[in-house]
Amino acid sequence: MQERLLKKIITDCAGPESEKLVDILYKKQNVNEFLIAKKLDLTINQTRNMLYKLADSGLVQFIRKKDKKKGGWYTYFWTLKTKRSLFKYKEKILKESTSLESRLKSLETERHFYCENCDIEYNEENALLQDYTCPECGEILKMKNPAEFTGHIKKEIKGLQEIQSQINEEIKNVEAKEEKSKERRLKVEKKEKEEERKKRKLERDKEKKKAEKGKKKIKKKSVKKFKGKKKKQKTKKRPGKKKFQKKVLKKRDKTKSSLFKALKRFSNKGRK
Ligand SMILES: [Zn+2]
Repeated sequence: MQERLLKKIITDCAGPESEKLVDILYKKQNVNEFLIAKKLDLTINQTRNMLYKLADSGLVQFIRKKDKKKGGWYTYFWTLKTKRSLFKYKEKILKESTSLESRLKSLETERHFYCENCDIEYNEENALLQDYTCPECGEILKMKNPAEFTGHIKKEIKGLQEIQSQINEEIKNVEAKEEKSKERRLKVEKKEKEEERKKRKLERDKEKKKAEKGKKKIKKKSVKKFKGKKKKQKTKKRPGKKKFQKKVLKKRDKTKSSLFKALKRFSNKGRK
């Protein structure tokens, strides 16, 4: 259905030769113009002319890439703009049905005249101006029986309304698909963001731990250094003190003992 509607609007814009273009581009993206020309069995210039015409109406879109193999010329890659084309078609149908409706209204509310020989129609005002005679052949104008025409116009309008509802349906389909792919994209983006956040958090935590370890090490080092100094000071000072004290003690002991000996000697002498 969608493809059929697209063919209608594409050929309306670029001629019957472009119908095959829809088969080539439908549901594809960025198709190489040389491939398109080959499939259409047209020259590259004919193909480009067709595509440019469609691009002017926004029905197709291109990107271009410089081709080093082709001497730095640009190669164009084409994409059919499905939604845009459907909207364009809808616009066109709406215009057609509006003009048919006004024609129907005028047939139903005003009198119309025509010349049987020349098949030319005149509204009431113009018929009066011509004195109800055909300016081409002089034949007397006849009044149109609106019922002969309104039935046909009504049928046409109904047909256009059907096409319109088909287009609306397809636009809905395209939009639903767009919505879905948008949701999918957002989901993927959300997931990626979450993973990125997790990764960053992990890195932050790692750095935090590293920083904490570093701090502890510094603390430990400073404690160790401090302790070491203390110990060294202790081991340096204390033995000295101790030695000194010991020496003093020894000296004292000596003096004590010599005093004691002298006393002992003295008391022994007294006893003797
Ligand atoms: Zn006539």
